[in-house]
Amino acid sequence: MTIAFHKSFFSKELNGFLEKIFVSNNLSGDGVYTKKIHHFIEKNFKAKKTLLTTSCTSALELSMLLLDLKEGDEVILPSYTFVSSANPILLRKAKPVFVEINAQTLNMDPEDVRAKITSKTKAIIPVHYAGVACDMDNILKLAAFYKLKVIEDAAQGVNAKYKDKYLGTIGDLGCYSFHGTKNYSCGEGGSILINNNDDELFQRAEIIREKGTNRSQFIRGQVDKYTWVDIGSSFLPSDLLAAVLYKQFKYLDYIQNRRESIYYRYMSALKELEERELLRLPFIPEYCQSNYHIFHILLNGEQERNMLMAFLKSRGIQTAFHYIPLHTSPMGKKLGYNEGDFSITETISKCILRLPIYPDLTEDEQSYIIESIFCFFSEII
Ligand SMILES: *Cc1c(COP(=O)(O)O)cnc(C)c1O
Repeated sequence: MTIAFHKSFFSKELNGFLEKIFVSNNLSGDGVYTKKIHHFIEKNFKAKKTLLTTSCTSALELSMLLLDLKEGDEVILPSYTFVSSANPILLRKAKPVFVEINAQTLNMDPEDVRAKITSKTKAIIPVHYAGVACDMDNILKLAAFYKLKVIEDAAQGVNAKYKDKYLGTIGDLGCYSFHGTKNYSCGEGGSILINNNDDELFQRAEIIREKGTNRSQFIRGQVDKYTWVDIGSSFLPSDLLAAVLYKQFKYLDYIQNRRESIYYRYMSALKELEERELLRLPFIPEYCQSNYHIFHILLNGEQERNMLMAFLKSRGIQTAFHYIPLHTSPMGKKLGYNEGDFSITETISKCILRLPIYPDLTEDEQSYIIESIFCFFSEII
């Protein structure tokens, strides 16, 4: 038996459907399906305004452009995240300032955020790890007090909630990913959510996304010709990808429910191993509704983690771990950070193992994974 670490969900409605879009001869951005996605995100996740982008990375780049960051400005984010949370800051010549995570949720620790705020701080980027929300009340309080912008990296947080609000709709701006590895995907895609009522900000986002032109206003008939009005890039995806995503969203609840049941089956099956202190299970605070993007376990050390990973691999089970903390990466070191700067982050990074979790994972496959983990602890360790 081989069990893949990840499989993208294939919506059967896509059969024969893409042909229709080709025939319609409208493959470029902002077509019918992009509009449907905008409407879907605004309606379902109660977002004020959204724009589909080519990735979450580009949504974050667009966000940093909207903040008008200047050289020397600082932006706070966890070290325990994907590179795309940090690169958009550097592209504006501003400085990423890393903070420690909470050992339970693996999300940014608001106390460390407070400690890192200086007169140069302009924004905070909470990253909702695994679809589990950051401690947003405390982060928003700090942001309000120090007049900082909050940009949620909700790449992993689509269809998850903090209290009664969907992730991505809580900060000034929010960014989603529809990458092939995420819960809802079209291969490569993302979106930016503009959550305040600042109409000018939304218009500027439209312009930057459309190569610095006012083409969107032209299409709506608000101006009689379109031209270059600001800096910009090309952040809008093909309508073909929007169509693929639209068909995924038809299965919003199905995908969520499948992931939820796989998640809780792991939880109850592996509980015994946690009680024997052989591993630690993930934790979801009461204020969160997760989307079960990741199921991870934490082993007692790096060697044990690597051994379990190799053992599962020998049985045909693919697993994964992440992240190399940004502060210990070659780039992080160039920024002046060192090993030992964030001990929780470093420990988590060494002990974490992610297990397969996706709608197509069968009951038998999951039984085999669970059985294999038990086998590892009884025979190998
Ligand atoms: C996946 C991911 C990204 C990048 O998403 P893309 O759509 O691939 O650009 C950014 N941040 C986090 C936390 C992610 O998990």
